[in-house]
Amino acid sequence: MARGNDEEMIQEELEKFATVERDVSFTKMTTLRIGGLAKYVVYPENQYSLSGILNIAKENHLPFKVFGKGSNILCSDEPYEGIIIRLDRHFNHFYFKDNLLVAEAGCSIIALAHEALKRSLSGLEFASGIPATVGGVTFMNAGAYKCSMSDVIHRVCVFIDGEIVWLRNEDCKFDYRKSVFQDHLDWIILAVEIKLKPGNEEEIRELMENRRQRRYDSQPLDKPSAGSIFRNPVNIPAWKLIEGIGYRGKRIGDAKVSEKHVNFLINDDNAKASDFLQLVEEIQEEVKKQYGIDLYMEVEKFNW
Ligand SMILES: Cc1cc2nc3c(=O)[nH]c(=O)nc-3n(C[C@H](O)[C@H](O)[C@H](O)COP(=O)(O)OP(=O)(O)OC[C@H]3O[C@@H](n4cnc5c(N)ncnc54)[C@H](O)[C@@H]3O)c2cc1C
Repeated sequence: MARGNDEEMIQEELEKFATVERDVSFTKMTTLRIGGLAKYVVYPENQYSLSGILNIAKENHLPFKVFGKGSNILCSDEPYEGIIIRLDRHFNHFYFKDNLLVAEAGCSIIALAHEALKRSLSGLEFASGIPATVGGVTFMNAGAYKCSMSDVIHRVCVFIDGEIVWLRNEDCKFDYRKSVFQDHLDWIILAVEIKLKPGNEEEIRELMENRRQRRYDSQPLDKPSAGSIFRNPVNIPAWKLIEGIGYRGKRIGDAKVSEKHVNFLINDDNAKASDFLQLVEEIQEEVKKQYGIDLYMEVEKFNW
């Protein structure tokens, strides 16, 4: 763990490669707006600067973690004595080549869905309401309305041990909210090739509008959340189990089960991470007791 002068020295080293911010609250880096302070937050501009940052982390035995929009992360209230790497400031270029969309990891998937619409390209409608980056949706194999990223990803460009490697879709071991990247937390997704199909602009727009309305009608979008908190078990949606145990509207401190969508847990004002996790664990215990089913978190716990 770095102290005093060491911290200044590490900051100076990091600044050779990227803009650095110190002691940034996770409340500003996650959609849940919960969590303690991150010691260093860096914004690499390219692979060279990314490589320099990873070397500094290694030399100083500091942990690191890439953050997208933080829309699937529950941070603890504790300080994080490591480096948060953010790609959304500089790794945000994209281009279309015929039906192929090549996008860097920090691009917003919502913005890309709209760019595809402008070109009458279909395939990303399902993702047009997911508040996430390309890196995050690939890592999670995010999906909605029976589609997921694995349906459209062609190849993924990954930074592995200082080398750039292109993985084909079949190498990514995609499954329901799963990918090979979850087994290799030191790999960094740099860019993704997305295969789209020519479509009709009006139909694409209508589908996106329909999805947007469905989200608006069914999700508590006016409150901080991380989307669905639990994975759906195989034969029954998680919300039915939560409803079944009578937890609609249940609250611990400012952590609350949404009245609108019970698989969304919201930060109702100033929730502590510990209250949030306690609510999660109570739901898991009750569901196990009453239904004999294990509910697993879809949202990732970080720095616990
Ligand atoms: C209102 C709301 C609605 C949502 N709706 C959906 C939905 O319909 N479907 C769905 O699947 N999810 C949904 N989510 C959850 C969330 O948006 C997804 O899980 C998304 O994939 C997270 O992307 P992110 O960029 O925010 O990643 P983060 O939450 O920042 O990170 C998630 C994980 O990905 C890793 N990661 C991010 N970028 C990289 C990279 N470049 N290289 C390596 N690892 C990386 C992080 O280290 C972390 O482990 C929703 C969330 C909210 C708040």
